[in-house]
Amino acid sequence: MIAPSRLRLDGDALVANWKLLDRMSGAAACGAAVKADGYGLGARGVTERLAAAGCRDFFVATWAEGLALADLGVAISVLHGVRAEDPLGAPNLRPVLNTAEQVARWRPTGLPCDVMVDTGMNRLGVSAEEIGAGLLDGLRIETLLSHLACADEESPLNARQLAGFAALKGRTSAKRMSLANSAGIALGADYAFDLTRPGIALYGGVQGPGHAGIRQVVTPESQVLQRRRVRAGDTVGYNATFTAPMDMDVAILNIGYADGYLRCFSGKGLARTGDAVLPVLGRVSMDLVAIGVDAAPGLGEGDWVALDYDLPATSKLSGLSQYELLTGLGARFDRIWY
Ligand SMILES: *Cc1c(COP(=O)(O)O)cnc(C)c1O
Repeated sequence: MIAPSRLRLDGDALVANWKLLDRMSGAAACGAAVKADGYGLGARGVTERLAAAGCRDFFVATWAEGLALADLGVAISVLHGVRAEDPLGAPNLRPVLNTAEQVARWRPTGLPCDVMVDTGMNRLGVSAEEIGAGLLDGLRIETLLSHLACADEESPLNARQLAGFAALKGRTSAKRMSLANSAGIALGADYAFDLTRPGIALYGGVQGPGHAGIRQVVTPESQVLQRRRVRAGDTVGYNATFTAPMDMDVAILNIGYADGYLRCFSGKGLARTGDAVLPVLGRVSMDLVAIGVDAAPGLGEGDWVALDYDLPATSKLSGLSQYELLTGLGARFDRIWY
């Protein structure tokens, strides 16, 4: 079955973004965060393409996300570590241990692991003090990680976290150290250590001038369900928030807030076909959106339009973060790589 809405995914742009971030990472290896279903694009399709391009280190949030990719044969680190409910090991998967309890749970397995150390974000991770007290002794640590709280802005916390993390060099059995996410890669070579972990920039997210050259990957497309004539003075959609200023043609699309095309696009979003720009009219519904189509006289039932979704511009327009714009993309889309 072909869904009436789809994500057009640019595989060349994804790979080009990874290669750019890999170059920016200098001598460090460049991994990929594919949690939250590859930021909404489909973790499997993303992982296959990046693995083929040479990416060797993948990061998911939970064991379930990791198990869904384990058959691809790439190394997957589970950022949330290992809970009592999780399996103590699975081929190609290793936990990023975050707490003393997780360390105690994992140590008897003797299997390799990663460890997160908190250097100032106060979200996840063991402390430098715990490491000093021997918490990690005897673990087989592949990578020691920390995570930057403010990498996408100028903040004194960046340098403090960098110094705190660098001070842990050689203090654990870790073969590698990893600090930088997408924005961290743009902070400079000091932040790269041995392995970087971009997510958002792989998928077209641009967080500043350091990300120049990053390309958009996803374009939502939707099929016209009905085309109708609306008379001057008629209203369109829930709560009648749009009143036609003149006789006009309207098309109804198979997409709505249940797909992640949220109500903030009401009266603001744009669709396109060819050179024609087609404004969203009135409220976005759960499963439907109305657009004005006078600029596209040939557009009819079953035809496809593309929705404007350039991440930086759409973030400004909607007030949603670039992360939310991607991860909100719902399960009803076909995800099609080109
Ligand atoms: C999500 C995540 C990343 C990737 O972050 P981006 O800002 O998307 O590049 C890297 N490291 C950790 C620990 C994360 O949780």
